[in-house]
Amino acid sequence: MKKWYQLDIERVEQKLHVVTSKGLTQKQVEKRRKEFGPNVLEGSKKVSKGLIFLKQFQDFMVLVLLAATLIAGMLGEYIDAIAIMVIVLINGFIGYFQEQKAENSLEKLKELSAPMANVLREGKWEKIASKDVVTGDVVRVYSGDRIPADIRIVQSNGMETEESALTGESLPVAKHATAISSDDLDPQDQLNMGFKGTMVTRGHAIGIVVGTGMHTVMGQIASLMASTKKVPTPLERKLAELGKILIFLALMLTLLVVIVGIYQGHPVYQMFLAGVSLAVAAIPEGLPAIVTVALSLGVQRMIRKRAIVRKLSAVETLGCASVICSDKTGTMTENQMTVKSLFLNGKNLSVTGDGYDVIGDYYVQERKIDRHFPNLEMMLLYGMLCNNASLFVRKGKYYVDGDPTDGALIVAARKLGLSMELAESFRIIKEIPFDSDRKRMSIILEDENKRRFLITKGAPEVLLPRSSYVMEANGRTLLKHANKTNIEAAIDHMAEKALRTIAISMKPLSKNASLDADFLEKDMTFIGLFGMMDPPRKEVKGAIAECQAAGIKTVMITGDHAKTAKAIAENLNLLPNDGKVIDGQQLNRMSVDELEAVIDDVYVFARVTPAHKLKIVQAFQAKGHVVAMTGDGINDAPAIKASDIGISMGISGTDVTKEASSLILMDDNFATIKAAINEGRNIYENIRKFIRYLLASNVGEILVMLFAMLLALPLPLVPVQILWVNLVTDGLPAMALGLDQAEKDVMRRGPRNPREGVFSRGLGFKIVSRGIVIGIITLIAFILTYDHSAHLVHGQTVAFATLVMAQLIHVFDCRCEQSIFDRNPFENMYLVLSVLSSIILLLIVIYWQPLQPIFHTTFLSGRDWLLILGLSAIPTFLFGFTKK
Ligand code: ADP
Ligand code: MG
Repeated sequence: MKKWYQLDIERVEQKLHVVTSKGLTQKQVEKRRKEFGPNVLEGSKKVSKGLIFLKQFQDFMVLVLLAATLIAGMLGEYIDAIAIMVIVLINGFIGYFQEQKAENSLEKLKELSAPMANVLREGKWEKIASKDVVTGDVVRVYSGDRIPADIRIVQSNGMETEESALTGESLPVAKHATAISSDDLDPQDQLNMGFKGTMVTRGHAIGIVVGTGMHTVMGQIASLMASTKKVPTPLERKLAELGKILIFLALMLTLLVVIVGIYQGHPVYQMFLAGVSLAVAAIPEGLPAIVTVALSLGVQRMIRKRAIVRKLSAVETLGCASVICSDKTGTMTENQMTVKSLFLNGKNLSVTGDGYDVIGDYYVQERKIDRHFPNLEMMLLYGMLCNNASLFVRKGKYYVDGDPTDGALIVAARKLGLSMELAESFRIIKEIPFDSDRKRMSIILEDENKRRFLITKGAPEVLLPRSSYVMEANGRTLLKHANKTNIEAAIDHMAEKALRTIAISMKPLSKNASLDADFLEKDMTFIGLFGMMDPPRKEVKGAIAECQAAGIKTVMITGDHAKTAKAIAENLNLLPNDGKVIDGQQLNRMSVDELEAVIDDVYVFARVTPAHKLKIVQAFQAKGHVVAMTGDGINDAPAIKASDIGISMGISGTDVTKEASSLILMDDNFATIKAAINEGRNIYENIRKFIRYLLASNVGEILVMLFAMLLALPLPLVPVQILWVNLVTDGLPAMALGLDQAEKDVMRRGPRNPREGVFSRGLGFKIVSRGIVIGIITLIAFILTYDHSAHLVHGQTVAFATLVMAQLIHVFDCRCEQSIFDRNPFENMYLVLSVLSSIILLLIVIYWQPLQPIFHTTFLSGRDWLLILGLSAIPTFLFGFTKK
């Protein structure tokens, strides 16, 4: 049987029942999807739900507790044993649901950032998820894409692919569409095939899908690929380390409680159970897990703000960002190009109209002109020919499919009355695609009379040195110094008006001229300039100001002309009076060290190539900055990888850039970066909030027991009560803190130091001081009511209620860096509700008679409650005034 690469395109079409110009029908698609399944590689298996549930009990201390309960049960303490069992079980369920939630939101993230594919179906191009591609689909791939399935190429426009994932060979391979007759070719020699998972490094192509999912070359080796493992974030790692110390401390203190207790004459069995319960309650073994939950909840909030986090660690790093390097075009601006002026025959022309609507006229000064103006029709036609976009109408509105720069040129041509049909009389011989390094695009055409010529469009400074002639009203002449000066003045003039400049030039070719790019794009005839307007996005100015207030510097990076960039930067208030603009040529002359010396004064980098971006990241990092860097094209991937927070574009970004990034902007918008940073700071603050709450609570719980033992008092809390506090009082409000709103000034503080420890900025002192006072007031409540063991259960109930209430009041303090009086406690409704439900549950265990023997509680009077509330307010309000 012949292989796909050996077949002519017609045979491939026949075998797969598809026509390249139409694609599959919906019916065919559905049938094939059923037959072959989704286009995915079956990777690592998911952890089963049962296992996640069981995992909640594998913790060592929980096992000890279960063993202790078993002993209690055998000793006849059935009620205690059952109560503890139930609480442990509930704890397990809560842990399970938290983990599920985190898991689900991470799953959802994966889906959101899943790759897309361009397919032709029922005659229309659409963008679908790669996993929905089926055999026979006609797909289009561009530079920067990962090829969605194995394809037989039917048309290649200078496409090159990098197939190291398959072959280990990292040099790009040029692809073509003609059948190859040799037998048994290895994938790397099948030059008319594109393989799933390999990336397009240059050009674009159309192909027919011949294999999907596991029926691809990549699928055959998929089992060999490393499975993706979840790596802990820096904070999770720090907490895991810290956790070990805390566990040790808690164990030591608990041990001390037990030893002192036994020494004071408490029954060994009682002290053992109390000690184990205390250890379970006080050991913050769940901290890293709650942090993960908080991070993933934050990630969901970010999705609502249109930022997709690809690496959980980015959530933390975002809060430390001190520099944002952002692309101008499309990120700070709308990427809605409109040609506003032309420079042709040494004259300035203007065009009216906004956006992509084909309404507008051409003027020289105040005089309207038409197609008979010399060279105008040629210039606009060439702009339309050297072009990859298409203009279409939907519901009376015009849209551009493809590069907006190209789209604007089509609209400009249509305004003069040139139609797309004109283009059809030319045959495309070769295309050299645009990329940000070359800053130009070329196309070789053959007209009806078989005459060949080249059209090049691109950055004027790139085209001008490659031109030897210039088109004037009465024909082509030699490009003289005077013409050059004229043209340069026109470029400056356009750029100062914030217009993006594109030049266009041409060159007649003999039939047998070499098609090599270096040979082609020189000695051209310079035709004219387009000046395009790309308005800044409305939200960006405000976002830049907010970033500045938050101590974050915004830097504009663009391939555009320095003056255009400067004009837009000034427009956005991004460039201060003494701020510098540096362009690509200056960058070339500077070493990283030299750049580092001046970089703090630079706000705009213009006419840069993607390689410069890497240098910029390195210079900022050398200065100690935490750098966020945006990018869209495939060449931006190295800079994005090197930055601390790599950001890619959801709409215009390529697969490869997205894979390199840790954050994707769904709307390509700069303002979304600011929103994500805001959220990143908030999440970190929330994590601090519940660490503070949980640890202070634990300190209080241990200390009240320790103090009581040292003073030779009876147990102020029984084991079930301790476990109850741990479960109901600590768990719910801590989760609610993880959902807390930001304090008003989070975006008015400087960025967080990435090396700062978990307990920095006074957190450690806050935890210990509140913990001690909570322990003391609980003990006081006990001493005042237990009446030398005559009313032991009464005293224990009061102590229990005091500890719970002190924590529930203290939780509101944990929302505030400064003082509890700074914030409205009702802002966070989750917190209010969780506190209320904790209080109600407390009242139930105290007042519902059947529960009283289980929780060792008794009825409390109004006077008791006065004492409880009075004491439990102390830890919070005491420090509310001192602001320490
Ligand atoms: P940026 O996205 O930062 O504006 P680019 O690298 O996309 O920078 O573009 C750099 C320059 O290349 C532009 O200023 C313009 O002159 C030229 N250019 C941009 N897009 C195209 C295109 N599609 N075809 C030809 N030239 C282009
Ligand atoms: Mg661009």
